[in-house]
Amino acid sequence: MLSNYIYIVNFKSNWQLIPPVILKLEEPERRHHTCIEFTVRGFPHPTLRWLYKGQEIQSPYIRTEMDNYQDYLEGCLTFENPTHYDNGNYTLVATNPLGSVSKTVFGHFLEAPPFLDEEDPTPGNDANRPEEDSFGMSIAVGLAGFGCVFLIVMFVLINKYGRRNKFGMKGPVAVISGEEDSASPLHHVNHGIVTPCALDAGPDAVVIGMSRFPVLENPQYFRHGHTCNKPTTHVQHVNRRDIVLKRELGEGAFGKVFLAECYNLSPTKDKMLVAVKTLKDPTMAARKDFQREAELLTNLQHEHIVKFYGVCVDGDPLIMVFEYMKHGDLNKFLRAHGPDSTILVDGHPMQSSGELGLSQMLHVATQIAAGMVYLSSQHFVHRDLATRNCLVGNGLLVKIGDFGMSRDIYSMDYYRVGGHTMLPIRWMPPESIMYRKFSTESDVWSFGVIMWEIFTYGKQPWFQLSNNEVIECITQGRVLDRPRLCPKEVYDLMLGCWQREPQQRLNIKDIQKVLYALGKATPVYLDILG
Ligand code: AMP
Repeated sequence: MLSNYIYIVNFKSNWQLIPPVILKLEEPERRHHTCIEFTVRGFPHPTLRWLYKGQEIQSPYIRTEMDNYQDYLEGCLTFENPTHYDNGNYTLVATNPLGSVSKTVFGHFLEAPPFLDEEDPTPGNDANRPEEDSFGMSIAVGLAGFGCVFLIVMFVLINKYGRRNKFGMKGPVAVISGEEDSASPLHHVNHGIVTPCALDAGPDAVVIGMSRFPVLENPQYFRHGHTCNKPTTHVQHVNRRDIVLKRELGEGAFGKVFLAECYNLSPTKDKMLVAVKTLKDPTMAARKDFQREAELLTNLQHEHIVKFYGVCVDGDPLIMVFEYMKHGDLNKFLRAHGPDSTILVDGHPMQSSGELGLSQMLHVATQIAAGMVYLSSQHFVHRDLATRNCLVGNGLLVKIGDFGMSRDIYSMDYYRVGGHTMLPIRWMPPESIMYRKFSTESDVWSFGVIMWEIFTYGKQPWFQLSNNEVIECITQGRVLDRPRLCPKEVYDLMLGCWQREPQQRLNIKDIQKVLYALGKATPVYLDILG
């Protein structure tokens, strides 16, 4: 009893009762801040509630972080990747037994992008959008329109006059497309400008390759053979009777993929395991695309590009024969070797043993970078680099394995624009999203995202955001956070890939060198894969 009394006396003398007062509630600085700072005074310490549009906030991506001091609280209402959907009035309500106070600030995080699609429509923040943005966009649209007209006029002129070069020299077609310098059959990339050659193949939203889904076409698929007066590549033909299907491996947009045995393919082996991609009931156009893709794949040969053996076109379905990569696609592989993965043992889920270690992650990234160094040496822009498009073989061998044909099981990774075209926006830099400009530098951006995927064991980039929110974040300069397990040196590489200006980005050769050196300096502490 006495001790209680002493306690109460002490309490009263040291701790004065104070009704709550909100001393500070700061508007977040647009685009840069992801928190609303506050200071609240009161004793006993007030309880805090946050309201957004009159409703209590209940989101895993918004939380209060604060420190308690003698008679005040100081902290932040912190947002994880806020977008324009989070713009609005935020009210802090502080309550203790002596009273309750509230204060409101306007949180303005990002602008709504002016070119959003029908999907998840924006809940009308247009009133907040500064005028100069829409003005800037109008200029961009105007310039783009002018550019299109200019290109069409050029194309007509080139067709009319360029092909009648009586000295037999290459006309403006070759000069514009840069083919003149090309040492390889793949031709040069002209940094996002659609060349007359690519125009031959049709507008932007045609179905590429064997895909059943229209995706953004890669003009390089259309720069072979007759269209550009280049010699046609000799594609190896495989006899149908030499292919024995064993089981289904998966399904891409292009069709089913099977494990098969193939006879008479290798001079040293009577038969070998292969992966075959099938295309059923092709239309004439699909057949042509098939041929073009086969030519392209025949010309791409490197230890970190999946090996293409040839085609089987006598009858239905059309077949492409590839080397078999035992562990399937890299995204699935990463998920299977992450901390959350489970395997079934006797029908019971068990924690999977083989978690990928740092040195292995670096090894995976280095190999993809090596494949990309090769692609860029061939002036080939991939446009869809992602872990789902890489394959894993024995001994953690990784290769770039898909050239724009798969969209099915990973359809969530693509964003439909204009009702037709599917874009892998989560892997795309601002200039590709805004202007459909693709280049070796935009592939480097995607490689940064691949590193992020590797270090998160295959998470989807910006998984907590909708497609429209992703477009907004990327175009307004936000980048993915550093994954928990990612060393600073690797995150610095990612940041080097995500420079806004394409010319400021690291080049893939340098990235490969750094990754290789980091891998050598990292001890192998887990050797899990045979
Ligand atoms: P794709 O049509 O390339 O997306 O392939 C669909 C799925 O088939 C992939 O996600 C892989 O799991 C599997 N696959 C494709 N190519 C191969 C290959 N060369 N070796 C082993 N599995 C493959």
